[in-house]
Amino acid sequence: MPLDCMKAIKIELNHAAQFMTNFLRALATASFIITAAMGSAYAADRDTLYQYSTIDGLLAGLYDGEMTVGEIAAHGDFGLGTFNDLDGEMIVIDGIVYQARGGGTTQTAPAQTLVPFVSVTFFDANKTAPLPSGFNLAALEAYLDQLAPNQNVYQAIRVDGVFKHLKLRTPPKQSKPYAPLAQVIAQQDVFELKDVAGTLVGIRTPQYLASLNVAGYHFHFITADRATGGHVFEITADSGTIRIDRTAQFKVTLPETQKFAALDLNQSRHEDMKRVEQVRSQPSQLKAMPTSDVMNPVVASPALPLVAPVVAPPPVLTLAAPNIDTTNDTKKSKAPWAFLFECKDEALPDHMRMRNQRHKAARRPANKSSRCP
Ligand SMILES: [Zn+2]
Repeated sequence: MPLDCMKAIKIELNHAAQFMTNFLRALATASFIITAAMGSAYAADRDTLYQYSTIDGLLAGLYDGEMTVGEIAAHGDFGLGTFNDLDGEMIVIDGIVYQARGGGTTQTAPAQTLVPFVSVTFFDANKTAPLPSGFNLAALEAYLDQLAPNQNVYQAIRVDGVFKHLKLRTPPKQSKPYAPLAQVIAQQDVFELKDVAGTLVGIRTPQYLASLNVAGYHFHFITADRATGGHVFEITADSGTIRIDRTAQFKVTLPETQKFAALDLNQSRHEDMKRVEQVRSQPSQLKAMPTSDVMNPVVASPALPLVAPVVAPPPVLTLAAPNIDTTNDTKKSKAPWAFLFECKDEALPDHMRMRNQRHKAARRPANKSSRCP
């Protein structure tokens, strides 16, 4: 072989070796990038609100789903929902799924139990604040609006604390043919707890997703001993810690059942949702609960006469709100969470109007420094 030719081959081989080295280097870099991407994808998955079925499906009376309690763990360790036949309120906390049945009696749900609706996420707090004493539910929600101002993403809310009073409900177990939720809820068990430690498990859904999930705040409660729980109508807080997990991703599994396929989900069920929600602001039909009866829920009977209307006292609103950046607030309020707008209700967006009505129902004074939006 001529020398020139051999030189040429050697140069080619050198090029090939160089190419392989560069290729391997590039591959190593690429695999690092893939690993990093997978790492962030994993972190992002924890920030996903996972939901099975839709709230409008539930409102329409679709109380049988095909997801099991055992499948929930793959999607989250914190959240709420219900069970097939509306057999109790679901509270998911620390990765355990609890089932609160009639009168609030709570136990862990068996893995094979079927669910028609659930919302969960992996709870990683973005923000923490103390729970001010004396807050009722309206005050807590207004305070959370300040702590978590982004109304356009899901927010998961965990409040561990001591509560002077709670008003809860569990749904009546249904059998087929199912009636729509707004009718069924008239037979719910409403009961109260006093001076009890436990956790509020909440999800705030953006208003624009109202046909998918409960728009605004939705809280369930479970006692610290995990023996009693339910859907929350009212609270009076004593002390505790609020934690908020902002959750910007959203994943829904829709049932592939014939019944879901047959539902008319194009009609608005906002009025039904209001009827379900308004129950908590109606005069209570409860017997007054003996103060010594801590942790023993009283089951309301619709036939009972109204003995004592249960109205949570207005909270003492003299605390400055902690952990709130008010630097851009030109008119600072002493109690920024206590706003009741003096403008006409029609001028307010839905969620503010509903809150305003609750404030009015509780006869709370208008906060003069609140501005109409
Ligand atoms: Zn609920």
